[in-house]
Amino acid sequence: MITTQVILKKGRDKSVLNRHPWIFSGAIERIEGQPQNGDVVDVWNDKARFVARGVISLKSQIRVRILTWTLYEEQINDDFWYRRVDRAIQGRAALANDPTTNAYRLVHAEADGLPGLIVDRYGPWLVAQFLSVAVDRAKATIVNALAEFISPQGIYERSDTHSRELEGLVSMAGPVWGEVPPDLIEIEENGFRFLVDIKAGQKTGHYLDQRENRKRVMPYLSGQEILNGFSFTGGFCVYAAAANAGRVMNIDTSEPSLYIAEQNMKLNGFSQREDIYVAADVFEIMRAYRDQNWTFDAVILDPPKFAHNARQVQQASRGYKDINLLGLKILKPGGILITFSCSGAVSEELFQKIIFAAAVDANREVQILERLQPGSDHPVLVTFPESAYLKGFICRVW
Ligand code: SAH
Repeated sequence: MITTQVILKKGRDKSVLNRHPWIFSGAIERIEGQPQNGDVVDVWNDKARFVARGVISLKSQIRVRILTWTLYEEQINDDFWYRRVDRAIQGRAALANDPTTNAYRLVHAEADGLPGLIVDRYGPWLVAQFLSVAVDRAKATIVNALAEFISPQGIYERSDTHSRELEGLVSMAGPVWGEVPPDLIEIEENGFRFLVDIKAGQKTGHYLDQRENRKRVMPYLSGQEILNGFSFTGGFCVYAAAANAGRVMNIDTSEPSLYIAEQNMKLNGFSQREDIYVAADVFEIMRAYRDQNWTFDAVILDPPKFAHNARQVQQASRGYKDINLLGLKILKPGGILITFSCSGAVSEELFQKIIFAAAVDANREVQILERLQPGSDHPVLVTFPESAYLKGFICRVW
């Protein structure tokens, strides 16, 4: 097989040599050969020096996703995919031995050397997303590797996301190996029980990236009346109840998620509480509270991704500032703001600046008490800052 050669423009090899795993179309001088979408390509700089080997995506702005920087040793074959999947699994050994948790991320895409591949483990079930043409091509091999290494009851695919379209791939969802999971499965997270809708829930069914943060916020919530914005299936609500919080108002636009949130509370023995579940827009609800001078002891804001790429950062910053400004305005003096951004393109530094701007506008004093990030199953690759996508602060607001 003759590999296609991708030759970069002068000076555009720097980020690749610094092991950033994406090559944008604008960095490419020319392509020698006629690659099909998803073919393995070798990347060279303008002085004919080998730079990296990856997979070409003819549709995406991210034209090449790098798989290896080693020229001769590393061929992209079944063995390669097995090695990478194995490495990702090894990296989760500590979590695999945790007796109170059976759900965690097994593969975290680029940060695990598997561009565009997400695999979440929910006890005996695996849920996979093949979000780049690179891993989509290798799907059968990757599925076999997962089956062999983990021996799950079944593997379910949830590649039904918008990012697939950007790669020129069609949306796909359904069982790919073993048994088909039931409509709702139960997982254990830090000793708490959660129902997960693998087949129809958001993403892979549960936001595993907040597992450690849900625990971290508990000491701040005891006795507090809480607005839990973007509550989804009640993750923060369950932990808040376990911390003896006062009433929690859960707000999410997704009614099916709120229904599961109520079930999750019951499942953990918290059915005798006065919590509220509101299917509404968090912005609108908070504006109404601001206008009525209704205040809370704690506000949790865990919105969906506002910036999907670098071009959207400015607009996203306005969105983050708006909700945090509203959150600050409805907090009692001495109240707690727990605020997150899961936009890879918004750095922690920028997010802190946004909170600063909101604090100035709200005329409130804001102290950062703790900085939050996902658990060790969502590693951050130092050469790929975008993998530090989830950041958050626990703040005291005066
Ligand atoms: N905190 C949750 C995860 C939140 S994910 C957890 O710990 O599990 C983001 C949630 O925001 C999704 O459930 C989505 O349905 C909801 N959402 C998106 N836009 C919204 C809006 N404008 N108002 C309320 N909820 C919204």
